[in-house]
Amino acid sequence: MSTSSDDLFKNVISHAKEYGFVFPSSEIYDGLSAVYDYGQYGAELKNNLKTYWWKSMVQMNENIVGIDSAIFMHPKIWKASGHVDGFSDPMIDNKDSKKRYRADQLLEDKIERYGKDGKTAKAERLQADMEQALKDENLPRLRELIVEHEIACPVSGTRNWTEVRQFNLMFSTQMGAVADDSDVVYLRPETAQGIFVNYLNVQKSGRMKIPFGIAQIGKAFRNEVIARQFIIRMREFEQMEMQFFVRPGTQMEWFEYWKETRLKWHLALGTDAAKYRYHEHTKLAHYADAAFDIEFEFPFGFKEVEGIHSRTDFDLSQHQKFSNKKLQYFDPEVDPKTNKPYGNYVPFVIETSIGLDRMFLLTMINAFEEEALGNEETQDSRTVLRLHPCLAPIKAAIFPLTKKDGLPEKAREIMDKLKIDYNLVYEEKDAIGKRYRRQDAIGTPFCITVDHQTLEDNTVTIRYRDTMAQERVDAGELNKIIGGLVSW
Ligand code: ATP
Repeated sequence: MSTSSDDLFKNVISHAKEYGFVFPSSEIYDGLSAVYDYGQYGAELKNNLKTYWWKSMVQMNENIVGIDSAIFMHPKIWKASGHVDGFSDPMIDNKDSKKRYRADQLLEDKIERYGKDGKTAKAERLQADMEQALKDENLPRLRELIVEHEIACPVSGTRNWTEVRQFNLMFSTQMGAVADDSDVVYLRPETAQGIFVNYLNVQKSGRMKIPFGIAQIGKAFRNEVIARQFIIRMREFEQMEMQFFVRPGTQMEWFEYWKETRLKWHLALGTDAAKYRYHEHTKLAHYADAAFDIEFEFPFGFKEVEGIHSRTDFDLSQHQKFSNKKLQYFDPEVDPKTNKPYGNYVPFVIETSIGLDRMFLLTMINAFEEEALGNEETQDSRTVLRLHPCLAPIKAAIFPLTKKDGLPEKAREIMDKLKIDYNLVYEEKDAIGKRYRRQDAIGTPFCITVDHQTLEDNTVTIRYRDTMAQERVDAGELNKIIGGLVSW
């Protein structure tokens, strides 16, 4: 990581806190590891990202509908999905520090270290050995690699390691008043299963015809052992997932379709295409027949933001088996090969799954700019969040030039006409330049200033965040001007 990208990341994190976007959870109690809260502007930005996703999925596609399933689900669901037995990471404990680490993460850190020290051959060999061990699920081999490469505990510096064990990432809790093993429920580690178990309900009640999709936005929980990189890896996070049900044999076409469509969704926000790349999974999960990630270049390197997976009929077939309920679709369309209807089958599924928090961070990083304003002597600069106007938490700020002469009243009057349509703020404190700067830092696309002339001719000054240009417009035109730029 270069110093400047390192700085950029630090600056974004502190900006997010200073301006009410993201706070560490439970901060007055010294925080809770890998858990964060969204502040007043963060919650708005997050909602706008959800709206952008929901509109493009549910509103723009007649054959996709959205649901909101409960976080708690029948524990058998996680048995059927494979999460009880297989959703785990390889963990190793250090006997001296009594601290627990992800074995693959320790190795990855070492690979990075070798790379930084110019030991490329060593880095490549260790990478290949680690990948092989992970592929074979060979836990003793992972430990051997840790010992062979003399990896020390990051806390105690000792090399006194236990064996490697699988550690399940699901949080569990008890349902009902009496603690009993049979009452164990899990906090869902993904939203997808809530869609699968409602497949038939939605298909029947919505009279959905294949191909069709079910979308959902919601919280997911994973007991991640390493908390890293701010809101990239959290224990409580949010996903936006869509499961698209297709006729068996057509999944590859749909997989390609969704792979491309999802990247276009990202690029439509104006992000530089060079910041994105696809990453193909070479090691597929047991249920998948194709998988690609959409990765974004964060200041600390490329990182997965969204996964597009061809999940075959694995999930529905498993739920069919575990629930003893038929989860099939009757396809009346005629197969040209046999001249008969396709008939009953368990649909195949293409999944698109994006992490809302990672999308949030990506958006903040992309928008963040410390702009020099040309005057070398005064070293004047501003921090501006160049958010797409549709995503901006506040659409416009209304300022009376002074606190007297009836200007606040006039400003309020203008605000009252606009606030039903747009999220606005009113600010009368500080000099006007300072108020502009504050809105730049929040990403507000417009500032509207009410002055003495407004009282005479009902015109106001509108100032644009990106260019800082100002123009005088009729207050009656504001709704149209703002609407033209912030509407979807
Ligand atoms: P990673 O390999 O980075 O742990 P994953 O492959 O486990 O991610 P998926 O299970 O495919 O992730 O989940 C879909 C999306 O959910 C990811 O692309 C990511 O954006 C998001 N996501 C997954 N785990 C977390 C987490 N702990 N915190 C925040 N977002 C997450």
